Amino acid sequence: MLKSFKNFILDTLFPISCLSCGVRDAWLCPECFNQIGILTMQVCPYCEKAETPAGAICPRCKARAIEKNSPLALNNLIVATRYTRNNLARLVHVFKYNFVPDLGVPLARLVAQAILENHLPLPDFIVSVPLHPRRLRWRGFNQAAILAAYLAENLSPGLTIPVLDATVIRRIFTPPQMTIKNYAARKKNMQNSFSLGKKYSLEENIIKNKKILLIDDIATTGSTLLECAKVLKAAGAKKVFASVIARQEMP
Ligand SMILES: [Zn+2]
Ligand SMILES: [Zn+2]
Repeated sequence: MLKSFKNFILDTLFPISCLSCGVRDAWLCPECFNQIGILTMQVCPYCEKAETPAGAICPRCKARAIEKNSPLALNNLIVATRYTRNNLARLVHVFKYNFVPDLGVPLARLVAQAILENHLPLPDFIVSVPLHPRRLRWRGFNQAAILAAYLAENLSPGLTIPVLDATVIRRIFTPPQMTIKNYAARKKNMQNSFSLGKKYSLEENIIKNKKILLIDDIATTGSTLLECAKVLKAAGAKKVFASVIARQEMP
């Protein structure tokens, strides 16, 4: 009752309208939501070229990793939709930078749909890509954690998949990937910037032999996801799948 009164006041003072078409009462109306199609094909997370089922590692990247004896930490990457279409870049921007956490629901629904359509195995745990504490304080919420919370409740009917908190932590305050234009510099920006959270000590490691779903909003070079996956694999995770709303295409 109180909540609906509060919502009534908020709606009157700050009317919400669809960011795509302007219709009232939703940040993203059902019609505009339905126009955002889920990608029908996924690519290898390493070469970002070869088309693979459920965004698995392609045979070529796999062979190269064996040859170099450096295992690839991220098993699959599912990208839900296209960054450059259907106003998506704007939706994500408003979600992140204009502090509209409510937009997390339709955006997380896209990720959930993509995961289900690609028949990714159900994970044991969900982990969101962390923000540096300084950035978290400034923004007030972690957009990836909002997506993760929705997925926890909506990937399997009647089942809540536990979300692990502070599993991977960001050690270094790095400039946002989106502000770095050059691909190599973006990769370097992320190297060794993550580590395992203190409570996931190796003696009592609940991640060991588990399947982890790693969630972020946007993949830029994918290097953030690859670095987080490395930390999870080093802690004993059996599989690391990742999923994002979209991949930011490099100019
Ligand atoms: Zn609309
Ligand atoms: Zn590949």
